[in-house]
Amino acid sequence: MSLLETVPISCPYCGEGIELVVDCSVPEQSYVEDCFVCCRPITIHATADPSGEVSVQARHENE
Ligand SMILES: [Zn+2]
Repeated sequence: MSLLETVPISCPYCGEGIELVVDCSVPEQSYVEDCFVCCRPITIHATADPSGEVSVQARHENE
């Protein structure tokens, strides 16, 4: 059983679609991931509810 979920987001800077791999065993996490297209740092906030539904917000680093 995999606890990793692939979630599509859009880069808040360049709008490019990115696939994030989120660890669903962690209820809530935030981290910074560099966009692979424009290389700017995206603040990722991921939450996983007990049913396994994952939601991800991607923001500018300084927002
Ligand atoms: Zn980008």
